[in-house]
Amino acid sequence: MERPDRIIDAHLHFQPKNAHFDAIALTAGHENTSAHIAAIYAQLGIECGVVMGNRELTTEPHKYPHTLRYCVGVHQRALESATHQASIEAVEAQLRNSQCVGVKLYAGYCAIPLLDPLYIPYYELARRYRKPVAVHMGVTASPRALLKYCHPLQLDAVAVNYPDMQFVMCHFGNPWLTDAAAVLEKNENVCADLSGLLAGRVDLAEYRSRLRGYIGQLRTWIAYVENYESFLFGTDWPLVNLDEYIDFISDLIPEKHWDAVFYLNAARVYGIK
Ligand SMILES: [Zn+2]
Repeated sequence: MERPDRIIDAHLHFQPKNAHFDAIALTAGHENTSAHIAAIYAQLGIECGVVMGNRELTTEPHKYPHTLRYCVGVHQRALESATHQASIEAVEAQLRNSQCVGVKLYAGYCAIPLLDPLYIPYYELARRYRKPVAVHMGVTASPRALLKYCHPLQLDAVAVNYPDMQFVMCHFGNPWLTDAAAVLEKNENVCADLSGLLAGRVDLAEYRSRLRGYIGQLRTWIAYVENYESFLFGTDWPLVNLDEYIDFISDLIPEKHWDAVFYLNAARVYGIK
């Protein structure tokens, strides 16, 4: 099968020397190391990746291998009253770092509405530093998360409040695809990454046959938006096998839009040169 020539992975998680991530990577046929990610990126034509930050929030700039950028993650702990002010200062310090290309919010994992006053300082910072805010949307990995906080309509309200900012709806709000498409269609300042739609190793022929209705829905609602500038390829590595995932997304996107979806859109949104 034909493949995109050049790729930016707009959504991954990189936590080397973490036993949990090591195990997930092995399940997907990978190794959770810098050396492995460099080798597999070179092999598959992935020139750059954007880490959705899972690290501690400190004012010390986070360091990643040179092929990676990162969004600084605002977790539940950052929003607690004892740590909120320090976390705002930490986010600003990270945003000053050129390798930091945005802010990541964990809606759903944090049971706080996206327009709660606690979140406002992070939007203001992202606006000041002209960097996007990526928001977890759609089904969560943890059963303790609350889905009403990560429904795509939550992001609609934020996008309307901050029309001069760029937002990234992670995972295209899956499986709320119709709602996600409506939010993208209406709001020019919202795009979606297509990460995390598969997990582990997948026999694509078997999967496409078993879930053909769902895959038809994905294809339909991506096409419905009628704007391939609005979609970014991402993987959610180490969750998924990169080789298989490139095949999976290539099949959902018309070939003439591959360079936009696999590369140019992420380069534009995350300011990657
Ligand atoms: Zn993720």
